[in-house]
Amino acid sequence: MASIQAVLSYVKEFFPGFVEDLKAFVRFPSVGTDKKYRKETTACANWLAQHLEHIGLQQVRIFPTLRHPIVYGEWVKQPGKPTLLIYGHYDVQPVEPLPDWSFPPFDPIVRGGYIYGRGTSDDKGQLFAHVKALEAILKTYGKLPINVKCLFDGEEEMGSPSLRHFIQTQKELLKAEVAVLSDMAMLSADHPSLAYSLRGSLSVELEVKSQGVDLHSGNFGGAVRNPLQVVCELVAQLHDQNGRITIPGFYNGVKTYGSAERNYMRQNGPTDNKILGDAKARYGWGEKGFTAYERTTIRPALSINGIVGGYQGPGVKSVIPAKAGAKLNFRLAPHQDPQVVEKLLRTYIQGIAPPGAAVNIHTYLHAKPYELNLGHPALQAGQWALRQGFGKEPVLMRIGGTIPAVSLFREILGVSTILLGFGLATDRIHAPNERFCLRNFKKGIETSIWFMAALSQKANVSGSVGTRLVRKGTASTG
Ligand SMILES: [Zn+2]
Repeated sequence: MASIQAVLSYVKEFFPGFVEDLKAFVRFPSVGTDKKYRKETTACANWLAQHLEHIGLQQVRIFPTLRHPIVYGEWVKQPGKPTLLIYGHYDVQPVEPLPDWSFPPFDPIVRGGYIYGRGTSDDKGQLFAHVKALEAILKTYGKLPINVKCLFDGEEEMGSPSLRHFIQTQKELLKAEVAVLSDMAMLSADHPSLAYSLRGSLSVELEVKSQGVDLHSGNFGGAVRNPLQVVCELVAQLHDQNGRITIPGFYNGVKTYGSAERNYMRQNGPTDNKILGDAKARYGWGEKGFTAYERTTIRPALSINGIVGGYQGPGVKSVIPAKAGAKLNFRLAPHQDPQVVEKLLRTYIQGIAPPGAAVNIHTYLHAKPYELNLGHPALQAGQWALRQGFGKEPVLMRIGGTIPAVSLFREILGVSTILLGFGLATDRIHAPNERFCLRNFKKGIETSIWFMAALSQKANVSGSVGTRLVRKGTASTG
């Protein structure tokens, strides 16, 4: 780019208008999970597509899916330069409980440097930081320093059910060297953050059935096996006294980390007190020998998300239910394979299930863990861009959660994703009074501009999908 300063001046001059545009975007109640907002969600996709056209993107298209459309737009007139895939989502979480909102969720207002409204931070505002960066560059110079493809999902809050099929059928369209996603919080307002690992996920439901029907627990209690008790016994055998998962072979695939990586995490990541404080928990729990941050990022975990069965109503009903179930969620550490873990779980459960209990395992979701080599050129471009945009040294973070898109880009397109956080932990995402800090909106736009400029200078931005261990020298630069 001839001069980034001219682009930054455009951002400065037109920032109030950017905020107005963000308000218009937030005004659509695009609650993807709620069928009654189907029309509004589609209207939001149409608006976003028009906006992409308006800022100068080309080939803008709306791809229908089973639920909510995917919005696509591109600018690919820099042959020889890298292609960046920008991913984000325009669907938002439901607003309930509505009485707890002090501001109308879909009529955004600005107060004290924040814009309030559902989706302002997750993810409309963060997505829009990249859109406005594109606008600023295109309106200043009429061209971008790299090639860009935008892919905006309308089903992220439902687990992106259409995305795998879409990516598989649009491999050519989505071809890129690297992807970027801003849908996370910074460590704090003074610590811009870049995430380089996510855990994978495996969600299953165990179902145990007796041969017959619900039975009277007076007439049959003590004589027949109770499926609900079987579920409890199976669940109780999934962890040992030390908080470790007991499935044989479960830890075989888990990557181990040396002291350099663990020291970096200790020095830069949240402390046990911070994590327990956020959870409002007095006592921690989990695998011995690891910090809470390690246990939620580089170690796997199994959570029992629900147990169903029997009588749940008020008062008493003496019943031995004919069936019962448990919902289990595994968070998988780097190098674990959800398909392998699923097989190990099935073998283990069949082995410990008592005779006469028919156990079924239904799988809902597989997502592979994700980890980026710290020497990855695009990650270094991201660090540099955050340093320019926020004027502070960025922190490299590991995230305990899972973002299906990131796993799918790696798996199907062979593309790594740079995760740049512009949100704050106090943004109240998924909760009443969601907000987005306007200072971060502006710095996010600037960071995105610097990021594209940095990528244009690199000969190779795709890096290797290697798994080189972090060296101290590399880690300490972040
Ligand atoms: Zn989100």
